[in-house]
Amino acid sequence: MICVSIGRTRHKMMILEHRALAERGARLVELRLDWLSRLPDLGRLLKDRPTPVVVTIRRPSDRGRWRGSEEQRQMLLRQAIVDGAEYVDLEGDVAPKIPRYGNTKRIVSFHDFDETPDRIEEIYAELCELDADIVKVVTMANAPADAVRMLQIVADARKPTIAFAMGDLGTFSRILCGKYGAPFTYATFSADRELAPGQLSFDEMKNVYRYDSIGPQTKVFGLLGDPVAHSLSPLIHNASFAAVGFDAVYVPFRVPTHLLQETLKEFEWLDVRGYSVTIPHKEAVLQYADVCTEAVREIGAANTLVKQPDGRWFAHNTDAEAAIESILLGLGEDAPPDGSLHGKHVLLLGAGGVARAIGWAVVNRGAKVTIASRTPKRAAKLAEQLGCTYVTWENRGSVTADILVNGTPVGMHPNVDESPYEAHWLREGMLVFDTVYNPERTLLLKYARERDCRTVSGIEMFVRQAARQFELFTNQSPPTELMRQKIRQAISPVVIKDA
Ligand code: NAP
Repeated sequence: MICVSIGRTRHKMMILEHRALAERGARLVELRLDWLSRLPDLGRLLKDRPTPVVVTIRRPSDRGRWRGSEEQRQMLLRQAIVDGAEYVDLEGDVAPKIPRYGNTKRIVSFHDFDETPDRIEEIYAELCELDADIVKVVTMANAPADAVRMLQIVADARKPTIAFAMGDLGTFSRILCGKYGAPFTYATFSADRELAPGQLSFDEMKNVYRYDSIGPQTKVFGLLGDPVAHSLSPLIHNASFAAVGFDAVYVPFRVPTHLLQETLKEFEWLDVRGYSVTIPHKEAVLQYADVCTEAVREIGAANTLVKQPDGRWFAHNTDAEAAIESILLGLGEDAPPDGSLHGKHVLLLGAGGVARAIGWAVVNRGAKVTIASRTPKRAAKLAEQLGCTYVTWENRGSVTADILVNGTPVGMHPNVDESPYEAHWLREGMLVFDTVYNPERTLLLKYARERDCRTVSGIEMFVRQAARQFELFTNQSPPTELMRQKIRQAISPVVIKDA
């Protein structure tokens, strides 16, 4: 179950949000009375309440907003119990002072907003002695391993226990705590109303992560990267799992570069079955892989790790395959049946991770490749690795190419009025493939259409790399159309000014 926290300064707004949440399907709501600017009127808040509630009044020392006296706060908590609130949240030091009464369940809690203390297991054991119906321990994750530790507390618990870690390093533990037996997790009313660091909105928890369908058997997948917060991968993979009835959840794992290897070891406890891998881990993750495809070996980077039935990690690069498929799609009837690119000249903009995967793939299909990148040294290095030529960034307009590939982020949201290539350099009949997928219709693609070029958007590549990952994760056919639809819904509609 998802408990949605409401923190509003006015009673009226708290009541309205409570009703709205009930209409949106919430079954438990936490009323954060410390947010109210006036003395809480419990009678008004609890009368005709549309769902069961957790009454919480957090002190400033626990990062709450309560401004009254401690005596007043405890009196209100007692009153909530007398008034029959379904749950009250009592901090460990306060719980012994507030007796059990009626049917109100006691959540005995501990919060640490700075760290996950070394003695968190002892703290948890102490809370278990305080006549709790539910024990709640929530700490700050300063490393992903902290969040794993919190989930281990839930998994080993003998009493109903909610434990997870705050901060974006711990977000996955908010989603996974139910798998290990937590009676509920916490979410916010909406994405812009975070009451604690790393909290997800009710909508994300319910509709993206499908929290209520996560159970002990649910398989775990995720995105390894830094940052990961704005990735669309959780949206499309979770929707795809649901569409084919595959019992799995796909979560964001933000892992800082220096912690990658030790975190992957810690994550073995989570029994993760597969990862999508993004910046900055695409190369470093190979150290953890036991086996890899030839493409991964030659490119030197992977975007997918899949656990084999024998326990070994297999590294794939689905970006390279997806890029080739996108180019062949763009060539349409001009694409040779064997998928070869012999006789085609590709101008590749950028020399980063995506350019490297695409460069390797097109060279492998027989294309002649020229690289143009802002930093000449990087262009030269990639050209040497791929056995192709390069030109300076300033001279990119002088190359006569059949296929132009943008492997830079230029034109990406919010800089939608930028193009990595001038309109007058484009020639009729050329294929222009922009790997940028947000927005779908970039300024470069607009120029290309105006010049009667063929075009392929980054969405085609994004869908295809995700679809191939999905196949590797599930051994099932991917719901490609659904993936495309989900991405289109999620990316911002864009209006590009006329050039
Ligand atoms: P990356 O490793 O950081 O490389 C970025 C490349 O773009 C570098 O060569 C960089 O040049 C160049 N660049 C950055 N800003 C520039 C600017 N203002 N002007 C000129 N060149 C610039 O990133 P990546 O992983 O290759 O990703 C690049 C882009 O590919 C992403 O932003 C995304 O839009 C797209 N992408 C698409 C998909 C898909 O499935 N469609 C998947 C992944 C990525 P310097 O070396 O000079 O910094």
